[in-house]
Amino acid sequence: MNSPRSLSRREFVLSSAAALASTRLAFAAATAAEPIIDIHQHTNYGGKRDTFWKQISPARTDAELVAHQRAIGATRTILLPSGREVLRASTHDGRGNGLESTCTSNDACMAVAKQYPGEFAFGANEVSDLDEAPAVVEKYLKLGACIIAEQKFGVECDSAAMQKLYTLAAAYRVPILMHWQAGSYNYGFERFHRMLEKFPAVNFIGHAQTWWANIDRANIDNPKALYPKGAVTAGGLTDRYLRDYPNIFADLSAGSGENAFKRDPEHARGFFARHQDKLLFGSDCVDTTGAVADCSGARQLAQIRQFSPTKAIERKVLFENARKLFRF
Ligand SMILES: [Zn+2]
Ligand SMILES: [Zn+2]
Repeated sequence: MNSPRSLSRREFVLSSAAALASTRLAFAAATAAEPIIDIHQHTNYGGKRDTFWKQISPARTDAELVAHQRAIGATRTILLPSGREVLRASTHDGRGNGLESTCTSNDACMAVAKQYPGEFAFGANEVSDLDEAPAVVEKYLKLGACIIAEQKFGVECDSAAMQKLYTLAAAYRVPILMHWQAGSYNYGFERFHRMLEKFPAVNFIGHAQTWWANIDRANIDNPKALYPKGAVTAGGLTDRYLRDYPNIFADLSAGSGENAFKRDPEHARGFFARHQDKLLFGSDCVDTTGAVADCSGARQLAQIRQFSPTKAIERKVLFENARKLFRF
């Protein structure tokens, strides 16, 4: 029996509809005011692969992902698939499957993008050195994928397999995003300029530890220091690639991107000024709240706002650079 103060079903439906409408209005207002493109997120991220731990720490659900992106103010998000699960050298016998997490593949990312048109987009991906990788990637490019990513496999950056993916990126005019991590993923960072020269029509996006460690000249002698601390000596390999090649861009996501600026705010301001047309906001975080305490994406947003020398540069990094680079 209803108490006098409980809502009738009709009242409940009306108030729910009003709440939903106001949420949509708030989202639309944010979209209109200061849109933000997040170029780096994942579906089913952050679960424990072990079946026992999975019950204690499940992966982030699609609903939690959508809420997280709205909480940080991302008005459009690109979902980057994993490759298929295989045991081979390029996945370190499976350790690298699910992008070394529980991230899901092409179909899962495409499904969320279709469910939220305009708010989410998706990439195309496959384990780089599988014979069928080019065909799988091309299938999803034809279905509307806007990037080849996340390429996080143990392969040489100038291998025949990778060059097939660069050729596809050129043919479909989409960027390719690579996770650089010395000893684990995408080998041969010091030789990568040859690929930048050989594929001038491809827009490459650099990401992860080795990419960000090499903003610093001092890191040349220590390629395995993945999260270096302290003052940066400008002019590292990453700094020079960004300066010398128009077809390489930087993904600011994850702990590595956050660390790159946090370690030396003065260097960060100069870096933002120098490479203002090359920097792209991404989050790549696994939390569900989007709160600064939990979320490297939210902390990186704060740093971008803090270290961008002008509002115009902040807007480039949060939106304009990605808008120019992607065909949504
Ligand atoms: Zn990622
Ligand atoms: Zn987050």
